[in-house]
Amino acid sequence: MKVLVMNCGSSSLKYQLINMENEELLAKGIAERIGIEGSFVKHETTGKEKYVIEEPMEDHKAAIKIVLDALVQEEYGAIKSMDEISAIGHRVVHGAEKFVGSVIINEEVKKTLEECSEIAPLHNPPNLMGIYACEEILPGVPMVGVFDTAFHQTMPATSYIYALPYELYEKHGIRRYGFHGTSHKYVALKAAEMLNKPIEELKIVTCHLGNGASVTAVKNGKSVDTSMGFTPLEGLAMGTRCGDIDPAIISFLMGKEKITIDEVNNIMNKKSGVLGISGVSSDFRDIEEAADAGNERAQLALDVFYHKVRKYIGAYAAVMGGLDAVVFTAGLGENSFVARKEICSGLEFLGIKIDDEKNNIRGEETIITTDDSKTKVLLIPTNEELMIARETKELVGNK
Ligand code: AMP
Repeated sequence: MKVLVMNCGSSSLKYQLINMENEELLAKGIAERIGIEGSFVKHETTGKEKYVIEEPMEDHKAAIKIVLDALVQEEYGAIKSMDEISAIGHRVVHGAEKFVGSVIINEEVKKTLEECSEIAPLHNPPNLMGIYACEEILPGVPMVGVFDTAFHQTMPATSYIYALPYELYEKHGIRRYGFHGTSHKYVALKAAEMLNKPIEELKIVTCHLGNGASVTAVKNGKSVDTSMGFTPLEGLAMGTRCGDIDPAIISFLMGKEKITIDEVNNIMNKKSGVLGISGVSSDFRDIEEAADAGNERAQLALDVFYHKVRKYIGAYAAVMGGLDAVVFTAGLGENSFVARKEICSGLEFLGIKIDDEKNNIRGEETIITTDDSKTKVLLIPTNEELMIARETKELVGNK
């Protein structure tokens, strides 16, 4: 069974073709600048040379057509015919309270997804465009929606209710939803496997630290709290997002700087985080480099970031009443031994003892604590696409 995984953003489309007999990656790629001048697809079939197709793509449908052509292309492709694609798994950002797990996409699901777009106006519409386009180009191929929010639907009300008038939750669905669920679920399951313990007996804090970043408390295999909220703006400081701030700052800023709410939103989403503090970049590699060269604000940005992650780990140990393992994943979590070491420093009281030699590694599944460390810390490369393909296979069945 071959599953095509689709992750559609507003002007981009990431895809992977996975053979689910052995979970082998057959091909992957990205279409960029969809609907903008200069669009292209970068395609790579495992074991073959990379292939770049520069062609105008006015919408997602045009992009998907080019991607499918690339997949069946004789020299650079991965399959002989599109008939080999048994199912398509779509990443969908926001499932609100409607979806507690992955679902086969049918008319009713599409209607509900349209409704969910209201609270995720930036993310869900491109996901839906991908769904509609695939439906047109590959009619009859079953499609599954896998939600970023679904894993967090197990959070208790104590974690997801904001201290706002309760009617606002009832009327507008204003509550905490959490994101990156597919990644948190994947690494939590993998951690249990690596620790050789049933996930139902573990208290794990998973740290997804990439351009977007979030921390989740996974107790007995279920998300019981997570740092992102109603939108992916809450929680940690991120590449360009501010994370937790005093909400009173918003009206204060509007008054002092004479700016509109859209401008404040733009500051909080695009100009803040480690970019805002450092003034250097949103990319941790650039900031680490600047800090090493003596740039104090770059160092401050890193320290603020580490401090917030550390704070969430401590908070979630309290939420779960203990801690068996911490997992680091995503761009920074997988690649930066300094970040992992700094975040864990001061957490010895939670039973964490980092082994510097084991920690000196990138992108490989590794337990980075000493053998006698009561609480284990793990580096696990995330694989959201594989998780989406697994869920798709489970729902569609072996074909
Ligand atoms: P992601 O969103 O998971 O793709 O993560 C992207 C972020 O990971 C980038 O913005 C970088 O800041 C960070 N990153 C990737 N590689 C490294 C590295 N070798 N060292 C430090 N940070 C890295």
